[in-house]
Amino acid sequence: MVLDAAAPVEARPLTLRDLPVPEPGPGEVLLKVRANGVCRTDLHVIEGELSEPRLPLVPGHQIVGTVEAAGVGVERPGAGARVGVPWLGGTDGTCSYCRAGHENLCGHPTFTGYQRDGGYAEYATARADFVLPVPDGYPDLQAAPLLCAGLIGYRALRLTGIEGLEPPEADIPERLGLYGFGASAHIVIQIARHLGHEVYVCTRGAEGQAFARELGARWAGGAEDAPPVELDAAIIFAPAGELVPVALGAVRRGGTVVCAGIHMSPIPELPYELLWGERVVRSVANLTRNDGREFLALAPRIKVQTVVEEFPLEAANEALARLKSGSLRGAAVLVP
Ligand SMILES: [Zn+2]
Ligand SMILES: [Zn+2]
Repeated sequence: MVLDAAAPVEARPLTLRDLPVPEPGPGEVLLKVRANGVCRTDLHVIEGELSEPRLPLVPGHQIVGTVEAAGVGVERPGAGARVGVPWLGGTDGTCSYCRAGHENLCGHPTFTGYQRDGGYAEYATARADFVLPVPDGYPDLQAAPLLCAGLIGYRALRLTGIEGLEPPEADIPERLGLYGFGASAHIVIQIARHLGHEVYVCTRGAEGQAFARELGARWAGGAEDAPPVELDAAIIFAPAGELVPVALGAVRRGGTVVCAGIHMSPIPELPYELLWGERVVRSVANLTRNDGREFLALAPRIKVQTVVEEFPLEAANEALARLKSGSLRGAAVLVP
């Protein structure tokens, strides 16, 4: 499914097209795509809010695939291995960020399904040193949303600074707010609940709120409703800047608000009192391979379950429209 020019998803911007099977370059593997998770970032690329895609482009950066062939110099992963391809498709490895262990902030990154073709396809290539191991217990469909929704959610949860990413450290439950309840939040709530934290969910729509309660939310209300308690931290998944002052107003002194999306509408002017009291607002950008290995080892241990809705590859435009309208339950996954 190919993007030729950015356009609203209502205009069905992706076209089904026959392309030659790509050749893996030096250091790359060729994958047969088994499943590809749809991410909100895809929507931002397709609709032009992220403005530097390579065009024409095959989007998609939550690929579960098996290795079909390898380019020069690749020893691992071997033929037949099942691997995952995330958003971070490559870095220069040499800039000050990479050298300091912050490859997510690399100055010369290449992103999957943005600067290189991604997983809305039957075949894809990836840098062999940037693919991730997929945990065995997860079928392809259920594994796909772990690769961005899960991983970015995990990094966002860590950056909230709430204590106890390993039980039993979380002996004092902390109160976490989630703004928006899509693919990423439905995974984060499971991690947070497993660690003993209380989760409060603010999201539009009764269905999303009911879904949050099913997954253990102590309370679920509308996007701008005030949770019944003061929060220790909050993560904003919805790409809506007006939620930043709302979340800051719900968080205690010293608490952190993490903006987990890659794009957000402008943040409105806010009174300084909302930030005062050592409250922190920060973003989470991309991921490191280390995040990937950590989270993909943690997910099966704490039995994270992903709720997915399957779409055939050629229905990618429909899947994106459903994501945009907020009518998905969990994550959309495309299957070629
Ligand atoms: Zn770098
Ligand atoms: Zn993503």
